[in-house]
Amino acid sequence: MTKSAAGSLVVVGLGPGSPDQMTPEAAAAIVGSEDFFGYFPYIDRLSLRPDQRRHASDNREELARAKAALAMAAEGGKVCVVSGGDPGVFAMAAAVCEAIEDGPAEWRDIDVSVIPGVTAMLAVAARAGAPLGHDFCAISLSNNLKPWEIIEKRLVAAAEAGFVMAFYNPISKARPHQLDAAFDILRTHLPADVPVIFGRAAGRADEVIRTVALKDAAGNMADMATCVIVGSPETRIIARDGRPPLVYSPRSYRGGSA
Ligand code: SAH
Repeated sequence: MTKSAAGSLVVVGLGPGSPDQMTPEAAAAIVGSEDFFGYFPYIDRLSLRPDQRRHASDNREELARAKAALAMAAEGGKVCVVSGGDPGVFAMAAAVCEAIEDGPAEWRDIDVSVIPGVTAMLAVAARAGAPLGHDFCAISLSNNLKPWEIIEKRLVAAAEAGFVMAFYNPISKARPHQLDAAFDILRTHLPADVPVIFGRAAGRADEVIRTVALKDAAGNMADMATCVIVGSPETRIIARDGRPPLVYSPRSYRGGSA
């Protein structure tokens, strides 16, 4: 029995938005691919040659997109799946792995590689100073793929453990109340003056970075293009005349309330 030659599938992180924040490795992987699968706005960001093909799909179709990309690679294609930021952070790399685990045996013969990218929390943190300078965690506030009770449990655990938290998917039209609910939970576990950074569209022309105290943080300060970083009791703000404050978490633990 002859086996058809499996092609390749590369999962590429495009970074948060600015071409300057895409790695040369990601740019080279794009040049070397023929068929591109991804969410519409990410596919739109690519400058492709006429011989390279676009297969854009909607945000909620990640598993179907991964399967379509794998099926094409299994037929010998040089396929690229794109994600914003890093493809391994709440994005397509895990969807591709899920599809391979549950898919036909021949998908395991595909040459799969993952190219990292600058994830949103790093782009936002860099603009604010160094809020992730000590221990931190990242939590998606979307309950599309996990129950809200699990999110609540993780928020409390992270606050009690003294982690800085980066929230992805903080809010959407279908989930308008979750970020306020998260702040309410955190206000019962963290000091009122803990800094909260709202980093919107980091690395893009419409970028806005804003820092408020936890007591003043509100869900309407974020949209779905925002990554929210909640400081720990150790996180500090350095005020500066005529310049935005520097928000940072010192490298060493000084003993806060956590
Ligand atoms: N793989 C992506 C995250 C996908 S989840 C990454 O590594 O960045 C989508 C969420 O990412 C958004 O709801 C928002 O919270 C965050 N996000 C993506 N791009 C962003 C940007 N340029 N600025 C701020 N947050 C961003």
